[in-house]
Amino acid sequence: MCYYEKTHFDACGHDTFRLMQHCHFARNDPGHQCFGAWNVKREHLQSRVECKDCTARRAALKTNGVISNSVHVIQTAR
Ligand SMILES: [Zn+2]
Ligand SMILES: [Zn+2]
Repeated sequence: MCYYEKTHFDACGHDTFRLMQHCHFARNDPGHQCFGAWNVKREHLQSRVECKDCTARRAALKTNGVISNSVHVIQTAR
């Protein structure tokens, strides 16, 4: 099995995995494929941070004007 580094993003709840090291099965395979279980060697917590996908999606939405940051303040008469 290969070694992975896991990062958990608190803001969106996603996990991303980054390959750290191939096992000898994957190294000997021409396509570097591994059929073993993943072994998470390190775990990181990114608190209040979104993963790359969510950050990119949010940025795309913002430029398309789908998400509006304007806040409508309704004043009530007393
Ligand atoms: Zn492996
Ligand atoms: Zn995410």
